[in-house]
Amino acid sequence: MLLREVGYARPRTTDEALGLLAEHEGARPLAGGQTLINVMKARAAAPDILVDLNGIGALKGIELGSDGTLELGPMTTTSELIASQEARARPILAEVCSQIADVQVRNRGTVGGNICSSDPTNHLPPLMVAIGAQMTVTGASGGRTVPADEFFLGVYMTAVGPDELLTKIMIPPGRSDGFSSVAVGRDGTCIVNAAASASGELRVVLGCVSAVPEVIRPSTPDPETVRSAVEAAHLDPPGDVHASSEYRRALAEVVAVRAATQAAERAGG
Ligand SMILES: Cc1cc2nc3c(=O)[nH]c(=O)nc-3n(C[C@H](O)[C@H](O)[C@H](O)COP(=O)(O)OP(=O)(O)OC[C@H]3O[C@@H](n4cnc5c(N)ncnc54)[C@H](O)[C@@H]3O)c2cc1C
Repeated sequence: MLLREVGYARPRTTDEALGLLAEHEGARPLAGGQTLINVMKARAAAPDILVDLNGIGALKGIELGSDGTLELGPMTTTSELIASQEARARPILAEVCSQIADVQVRNRGTVGGNICSSDPTNHLPPLMVAIGAQMTVTGASGGRTVPADEFFLGVYMTAVGPDELLTKIMIPPGRSDGFSSVAVGRDGTCIVNAAASASGELRVVLGCVSAVPEVIRPSTPDPETVRSAVEAAHLDPPGDVHASSEYRRALAEVVAVRAATQAAERAGG
């Protein structure tokens, strides 16, 4: 289906973009367009003006701080992250980004767009929560920091307000992480996924089982303990054409165990 008519602006600075978003009620940020353009074609979203963030250099790039903290610009594409030397400081990032869809989607789709979509089947929301990412959300009155576990509010809903932008993603140092998913076909949408981190207290975060990533805190990475912790969460996942609710709940235990085991092995435990 063709797009309906829409205005377009390509600001050069974050302030200019924020000004456009504040000025026009129907304005919406455009990153890689891999989700937004598709939902516009399906008439599920109808912004009046697209505020294209691709011309804003300050929103791109990856920096590694002397303490090992990674600072990701939200307009970094997933392909750029995979190729980045700096991003190797937290290897799970590139490992998971390489599993997203295909090279065409990864070349256009951005880290920030993946997160801001808050699509429960996306790879990055549970990963960001598991590794304790901190998001900087900026509006006219300045920036605020939102921990990843408070960022995702619902399907397609995040802590970013209509006239705000996600402007930075801070990733703490750590290498003891894991990820596991079951997808529809080789490059397909996740039916269920799990990210885990044993850098600090063990944390397993499940995706695709509810509107937002579900945090599970097993006391140890022992498979039985992880399985019991998932069971105790009383998940009520949606059923769809790919998987019934029961099947998704069963798979959640499987991927949680795999992700926790991988994280624990990398922690040397
Ligand atoms: C065929 C196909 C298969 C895919 N499969 C997968 C998959 O298996 N796993 C997966 O994780 N992803 C998948 N994706 C999603 C893809 O990886 C992109 O991450 C996602 O589409 C959004 O990124 P984008 O940069 O294209 O954002 P856009 O589509 O441009 O934007 C998405 C949303 O985020 C908002 N937004 C973007 N940047 C900001 C910002 N800085 N501040 C505030 N709001 C912002 C936009 O307004 C919009 O609402 C797939 C996409 C396609 C087309």
